[in-house]
Amino acid sequence: MPRAAVQANEPIFDTHPEVSLDFSHVKTVLKRGYEKPFLLIDPEIIRLKTRRFTRAMPRVKPYYAVKANPDPRVVQVLRDEGTGFEIASVAELDLLLSLGVPAREVLYSNPMKSRAYIEYAAHKGVEWFVVDSVEEVRKVVSIKPDAKLYLRIDTPNIGADWPLAGKFGAHLVDVPEIIAAAAAARADMAGVTFHVGSQCRNPQNWRVAIERSRAVFDQLIAAGMRPRMLNIGGGFPVRYVKPIPAIEVIGEVVNEALEAFPEEVEVVAEPGRYLVSDAAYFVCRVVGTATRAGRRWMYWDAGLFGGIIETAEGLRYQIRTDRTGPMVPWCVAGPTCDSVDVILQEEMLPEDMQEGDFIYLPNAGAYTTAYASTFNGFPLPEVIVL
Ligand SMILES: *Cc1c(COP(=O)(O)O)cnc(C)c1O
Repeated sequence: MPRAAVQANEPIFDTHPEVSLDFSHVKTVLKRGYEKPFLLIDPEIIRLKTRRFTRAMPRVKPYYAVKANPDPRVVQVLRDEGTGFEIASVAELDLLLSLGVPAREVLYSNPMKSRAYIEYAAHKGVEWFVVDSVEEVRKVVSIKPDAKLYLRIDTPNIGADWPLAGKFGAHLVDVPEIIAAAAAARADMAGVTFHVGSQCRNPQNWRVAIERSRAVFDQLIAAGMRPRMLNIGGGFPVRYVKPIPAIEVIGEVVNEALEAFPEEVEVVAEPGRYLVSDAAYFVCRVVGTATRAGRRWMYWDAGLFGGIIETAEGLRYQIRTDRTGPMVPWCVAGPTCDSVDVILQEEMLPEDMQEGDFIYLPNAGAYTTAYASTFNGFPLPEVIVL
């Protein structure tokens, strides 16, 4: 019997209070008027979430995944909290360097990097580069022979609302060949990483992934390598609509699994969503409504192209309005003329919603403004920091 910290019959969902930005701040900002959709961020909540993450997993140093929200003011808050950073591109690296983040505090965790990007990052002083294929090992080493490589492995994404498996991650059958290629290239295969899937609501994914990482550490050691870093990736969930395992519950599972690694092994994570989502409200407005073949439609001034894109894969935001009418099903679409720009089908919203009404999405600080484009001539949402 494993000494499981969380037994199957124990409640694991919603065991701890979660935070949201205080709604009164949204009302205060709206008193100044409204021009276009905006994201209102409270940096204090980012600080709170960072400290809570570290308390739940004292052995794990967070490296913020910049893609979740690359606003420079967000990055500054995290830099001041002492996190490192995870990047996928040189634009993200330049942003960090311009804010005084040292390159050695940066993990280049995109498994598929162009030669030009690797050269640039290496030149700027980045030391850590992820790999998940024989070709990528050879590519990185040909540019930076002393790179510290960490091997991304494939792990279960069961129970993640935004699964990432398939696109990246070496499968266990391919690991021996990658290690052999690294040995032949005299590469420093210094660590192992994985990603359990974003908004992962199943703590067991971390346990399984850490156990697999331990097995890969053993394979690396057997091949004469010196693995010394375990990177447990991102995926830590926040409370939207569905219940979540609190970070403390995930922490119990992670902390116990980490006991299989000696103290000298440095353990890091790459939380994105967890650190920034709860700190912000996304605010937009109803452009108009219509009835089509008996179905009610409403069109917001921000849709799929305006930052509300995660609903396309099934993520659900809590939706606040100022209306109190009976709830009826609505189709919700964005303002562009692209037929793909439909955010929600049959979403229960007040019957009396009208043109000009405001829409408030709490906990929307991650993967909203970061995704927005000006497609069809609609403006990017503004980011306002309290
Ligand atoms: C996107 C990403 C993250 C962050 O994921 P979250 O689900 O936002 O925590 C971390 N690491 C890598 C490599 C990523 O691609």
